[in-house]
Amino acid sequence: TCGGDHKGARFAHITKVHPCYNEKLHDKVGRVHVPIAPKCNIGCNFCIRSINTDEDRPGVAGSIMDADAAVEHVLNVTKDSAITVVGVAGPGDSLANEATFEFFEKINKVKPDLIKCMSTNGLLLPKYAERIAELGVNTVTVTVNAVDPEILKEINGFIFYEGKVYKGLEAAEILSKNQLEGIKKITDLGVVVKVNIVLIPGLNDEHIPEIARTVKECGADLVNVLPLIPLNKMADYPRPGCMEIEKARGEVEEYLPVFRACTQCRADAYGIPGKKHEDHHIGNAPQSHF
Ligand code: SF4
Ligand code: SF4
Ligand code: SF4
Repeated sequence: TCGGDHKGARFAHITKVHPCYNEKLHDKVGRVHVPIAPKCNIGCNFCIRSINTDEDRPGVAGSIMDADAAVEHVLNVTKDSAITVVGVAGPGDSLANEATFEFFEKINKVKPDLIKCMSTNGLLLPKYAERIAELGVNTVTVTVNAVDPEILKEINGFIFYEGKVYKGLEAAEILSKNQLEGIKKITDLGVVVKVNIVLIPGLNDEHIPEIARTVKECGADLVNVLPLIPLNKMADYPRPGCMEIEKARGEVEEYLPVFRACTQCRADAYGIPGKKHEDHHIGNAPQSHF
């Protein structure tokens, strides 16, 4: 675990402009996700990544863009809208794709005023923390589904790390160590971190307070508890109900603020997340809503 201080000022600033950091903004300002990161370097047992235009969940995009097309897309959709944030949210892992770095370099030249955001499984966060901070990325979401490798190994099947595949407990130990080290390193560099926890009844539900306590020590500012979408190897698990989610959120709140407005959006979503008719994704043009 980490130790160390909490940095309140940057977090306070982010909560004034970022729809994923302030529930009151979730239906007022928007974000654009650029689907430029198809590759992933770990195997979450619940994950199915997919290219389609109809499923509403993370891991899904209508198409994959390169960095230049993504810059064009951002310039288009931010022309006359309330979008304040540009994020790389997959459909794979942002840090496993060189296009992520290329994109932020390019967007900095044409749209330096946008808040830059990314989500990651954290495996490569220690390696890239400095690079991310240098690019001016403001916020990073790290998904931490367990801080105990014995539990994490039930959620994650394998990692591909420095040219080698690791499985089981060994994989979980490396992933967990890197997630926590990465959160510590990047928050020390001034980047604000939100931790996403996928709530999996029977696996990590009793482990929630331990996750919250640990990521707080490492410098995280905010937590988002998401219900498992039972897919792939976890298709037989139940999707947690409201009561279970509320209980977990209450436990987290003993340690860190909780974001409650998330509805788990796509890797190519753009618009205002909390306003159905002003939220879109690629292959689903704005006018199709009217
Ligand atoms: Fe899927 Fe994300 Fe896990 Fe990668 S990190 S396997 S994209 S859920
Ligand atoms: Fe919000 Fe996550 Fe997208 Fe960032 S990556 S804009 S936190 S949904
Ligand atoms: Fe981010 Fe969730 Fe809001 Fe989508 S619904 S913008 S993933 S906080």
